Amino acid sequence: MKDITTKSIGLLGLAEEELYQALQGISPDIKRYRAKQIWLRLHKFRVRSFDEMTELPKDLRASLGERFHIQSIEAVHESDSADGTKKFLFKLSDGLEIETVLIPSEMRDAQGEVRRKTLCLSTQVGCPLDCKFCATATLKLKRNLTAAEILLQVFEVERITGERVTNIVYMGMGEPMLNYDNVIRSLRILSNPELEIIGAKRITVSTSGLPDEIRKFAEEGFGVKLALSLHATTDELRTKLMPINKRYPIVGLLEAMDYYYQKTGIPVTYEYIVFEALNDTEADAKRLAKIARRMPSKVNIIPFHKIDFTNPTGISAELHPTAQDKFELFVDMLRAQGVQVMVRSSSGLDIEAACGQLALASEHVPVPIQL
Ligand code: SAH
Repeated sequence: MKDITTKSIGLLGLAEEELYQALQGISPDIKRYRAKQIWLRLHKFRVRSFDEMTELPKDLRASLGERFHIQSIEAVHESDSADGTKKFLFKLSDGLEIETVLIPSEMRDAQGEVRRKTLCLSTQVGCPLDCKFCATATLKLKRNLTAAEILLQVFEVERITGERVTNIVYMGMGEPMLNYDNVIRSLRILSNPELEIIGAKRITVSTSGLPDEIRKFAEEGFGVKLALSLHATTDELRTKLMPINKRYPIVGLLEAMDYYYQKTGIPVTYEYIVFEALNDTEADAKRLAKIARRMPSKVNIIPFHKIDFTNPTGISAELHPTAQDKFELFVDMLRAQGVQVMVRSSSGLDIEAACGQLALASEHVPVPIQL
């Protein structure tokens, strides 16, 4: 079989101008409106073969097929949670696998009932960061996802389920800021109003905290939300939980987050997993409130989802979720100090699809799902 991945250029994920430049390789006579047609077919109508681009002349379709290909990923397994959460296992063209989670939720706001379908995207196969509470860390980094592989998680989940995603969070496997260029490429497509995929305000990128990339990201002008996985208010504890903190301590991260707010006017989010006896005291709540009040922000309080480390070592062995009453007390203390708090749900816990549980570990039976 012809190895399309190395022999030709994949067109999905290219900007319109890049696509036009690529087409010049077929013939310099190809007009701009052709590039536009192809770009729209790929990203708005999501065709999966050049033959479906019926408005193009047949010979152009044939030339496209000779030089280019349309990337794809294959859903090989789907797990369904009792709470409606769905976890998809996707096989990439080189055989590696990633997970993507679709989380339905219902809430009331001023407009009445709001039904959300939040899609949690992966950005890397595995992750190079060694966060002590996260299952993905056990995989180490296999490779970055391409922009197309990030986009295809949205396109495939919408195609398979027949439903529109209302919110996107870059919170699956991997660290988005360590795959910066491809994350940016994917955002350029996803947030492009012409493609009517999703509004930028409904996209959140979550990072463990790389200050230089956060500042750069602030300059991109996407209008998406930015979340920082903080989890501790002292460098001593944060470094134990997230070794990356040694290189990028808290103060520098907070300054970068301030910069994001100043540049974009979008309140930032701090994510905070509550661990029993480690970061759930009154002193922690006070320090966290002080951090949150620097700039308009929101704090996302996350219950710790216990991870099945086969041989937990060091601090991983000491991590336990805080009991419900203490957890609620912690939230109340923050609220009492004027912090806007959201409590993250543990959707998908039963299928290992909740935050931090993505590790390709649930030995799946490779039964092809019905498409
Ligand atoms: N690398 C990025 C995005 C992936 S993690 C980041 O660090 O933000 C997405 C969120 O899940 C982060 O806030 C992360 O800290 C949280 N998380 C990881 N493991 C978890 C666990 N075991 N329980 C609860 N949340 C977890």
